[in-house]
Amino acid sequence: MYNSGLNNQRVRQLNRQTIMKLVWQHKQLSKSQFSQFTGLSIPAVSKILEELVGDGKLSHSSENLSNRGINSGSYQIPPDGDFILCMNVTPTSIESQLCDAQLSPKGEFERIQVNASTPQALLAAIENIWRNQRKTWPKKTINLALGIHGQVNPVTGVSQTMPQAPWREPVEIKYLLEEKLGVTVRVDNDCVMLALAEKWQNPANRQDFCVINVDYGIGSSFVINGQIYRGSLYGSGQIGHTIVNPDGMACDCGRYGCLETVASLTALKKQARIWLKSQPDAPKLNPDSVTSTQLINAWHEGDEQVRRWVDSAANAIGLSLYNFLNILNINQIWFYGRSCGFGDSWLATINRQIGFNPFDHGDTLKMNATQIDFGQLTRAQQVMGIGYLYVEEALTG
Ligand SMILES: [Zn+2]
Repeated sequence: MYNSGLNNQRVRQLNRQTIMKLVWQHKQLSKSQFSQFTGLSIPAVSKILEELVGDGKLSHSSENLSNRGINSGSYQIPPDGDFILCMNVTPTSIESQLCDAQLSPKGEFERIQVNASTPQALLAAIENIWRNQRKTWPKKTINLALGIHGQVNPVTGVSQTMPQAPWREPVEIKYLLEEKLGVTVRVDNDCVMLALAEKWQNPANRQDFCVINVDYGIGSSFVINGQIYRGSLYGSGQIGHTIVNPDGMACDCGRYGCLETVASLTALKKQARIWLKSQPDAPKLNPDSVTSTQLINAWHEGDEQVRRWVDSAANAIGLSLYNFLNILNINQIWFYGRSCGFGDSWLATINRQIGFNPFDHGDTLKMNATQIDFGQLTRAQQVMGIGYLYVEEALTG
C-alpha cells in the first residue's frame, strides 16, 4: 500500500532511532548484529552507521565481537562523553551509582543515611555526593539523574510532595541544583526510575508491563507500547491511591481507604502498633519501635496476627491490580520494594486475587502468558534506571 505520510526522510529518521535504541540496549554491536536485529540489509545498515559516526552519535572500534565472518569491528556510544550520576533520593537515605557516557557503572554503588529535616539539608546531601565524585573525576562533566520519592513534576523538576519528609512545601530540586552545580539535572519519580530500569536493562520485557513498588508507600509505573505512561498530571501510576475501602483510614492524599492505608509497610506497622498497645501481655515486639524487618521476620516465623494483616494487605494489592490491569490490558508485572521480603506466599496471595489462570503461568511457549514476579534487577541497576531519562530525551529530541 502506498503511504504518502511515511516519506524517505521519515524512514531514515526511524531507522537511525532504531539503531540508537539497539546500541543503548546492547552497549556494543557489530554491523551484522545490527542487520539481524533490524532486518535491514548490510549496505543499508552501513550507510546509517556511517552517518551516525559522522554526527558523533556513535563511535567505531576495531574490536571484533565475533570470530566468525569478516572483521568489521563494532559500534558503541562515544565513550568520552559526559558522565551521569544516578541517585535514588528519599529524605532518609540516598543511593547513588556513577555511570559513564555509555551508562555503564563506574565505581561502587553507594548508600548513605541522610535523615534530612529540611529541603536544604537534602539538597546539601545530594551536592556532597556529587562533589565527592568530582574529586575522583575532576576533568569530567558529571550530570545528575535523580529518582525522587513522592510526587514529582519531571518537566519543571519540582518535588511536589515527599510523604516521608517532615516538610510539606514543594522543592525546586532541578532549578536549585543546576544553579548551584552548573550541570544538567533530570528528575522523575522513583517508580519511573524502576520502570526505566526494567525497560532498558531487561530484554525479556514486553511492550506493555508495569512495575509496582511496595515499600513505605505503594507506587507504580506503567510502560505502554514501549513508553512510560505518565498521564497528564504525572499521577497516572498512583495505584497506591486507588480506594479499596471507602470507610477506611485517612490517607496523606486527603481521601479515605486508599490502598496505601491498607497494604503499604507503613500501614502494616501502624496496624501492628495499635494492636500491640492493646496487648500488654504480648511483649515480643515493642509497639513504639516496630520495624519493617521485624514484621517480615514475624511473618516468616508464622506469627498468626502478622500473617492475617499481611494476607489482607496482599489481597488488597491483588484486587487493585486486577482492576487496573484489566482496564489497561497489561499482564506482565514486576514487584520491587522491601515488601518483596514477604516472599513467595505473599506473591501467591496477590496472584490469586488477580485471578489469572495460574496454569498459564509457566507456559513459556505462549507469547502473552501472564507473568507476575519479583523484579530481578540489582539495586545498582534499579538506580541506574533514572539515567535513561537522558537516553529517552536524546532519542526523541
Ligand atoms: Zn491516598
